[in-house]
Amino acid sequence: VSLIILGLSVIYIYFQKMFGFLRLQKNFIRGFTHELKTPVTSIQLYIDTFSKYEIDRKSQLKYLDYMQKDVKRLSSQIQRILNLARLEGGKDRVVFEKVNFSSFIRETWNSYPNIVKELDLIVEDRDVFISIDKGLFEMLVINIFNNAIKYNLSDKRFLKISFYEKKKELKIFFTDNGIGIKRKDLKRIFRQFYQVSKKQRNGGTGLGLYLSQMIAKRHKGKLSAKSDGAGKGCSIILSLKKRGSV
Ligand code: ATP
Ligand code: MG
Repeated sequence: VSLIILGLSVIYIYFQKMFGFLRLQKNFIRGFTHELKTPVTSIQLYIDTFSKYEIDRKSQLKYLDYMQKDVKRLSSQIQRILNLARLEGGKDRVVFEKVNFSSFIRETWNSYPNIVKELDLIVEDRDVFISIDKGLFEMLVINIFNNAIKYNLSDKRFLKISFYEKKKELKIFFTDNGIGIKRKDLKRIFRQFYQVSKKQRNGGTGLGLYLSQMIAKRHKGKLSAKSDGAGKGCSIILSLKKRGSV
């Protein structure tokens, strides 16, 4: 009897897991389709307007600006899907390269004028060399930058980067002065589609940190979060195993 019960439980757990996975995949596809649909519909609307009506130059420029923003959103979503496919694909799709992380993070920040405008970057002055896939890591870092901007009500938003080295581990701290994260959410924020406040829904997909975590794992690392609570800022911590090169 106990064997039968054991067998049935194993089958039950297996099916639970499988259905859970299928549900996740469905949600994921739905989430992305939604994200792609919104800018496309919007662009379609402007094109219709342009072809049907005579529009003065000033309004044209205004609409073109909106369209440009939609195209940007669309292309960043497509980039995310491509990167995700890269993450899920075989090992050969990830290309490791040794970089000085402090320089890498400064360069990435510098190449996005909208981020430079919104967020001050303070990097601990130290040479830290790690092996990374630059394309994927740029995505990870940008997600953290964007969150440090979005979830921050301070007049002067900043992100501080500091390093802690142990014998076998390197920890990189990304510390912001934002709204902070409640204890119960510290782990949940890395889940697919998880967002702390429902009000934020239109401002993102809840995928940023999930994808970043996947990227960290692809580098045999892990992301975690720390915060002293609401209003007290937070740290996203990237822990990497030290290998010969790290
Ligand atoms: P997306 O990144 O896909 O545009 P998102 O920012 O909502 O959407 P994540 O980056 O995965 O998704 O973050 C998940 C949630 O974690 C956010 O919705 C927010 O509630 C919380 N969060 C993330 N970063 C911070 C931060 N630096 N400070 C406070 N809360 C944060
Ligand atoms: Mg985000």
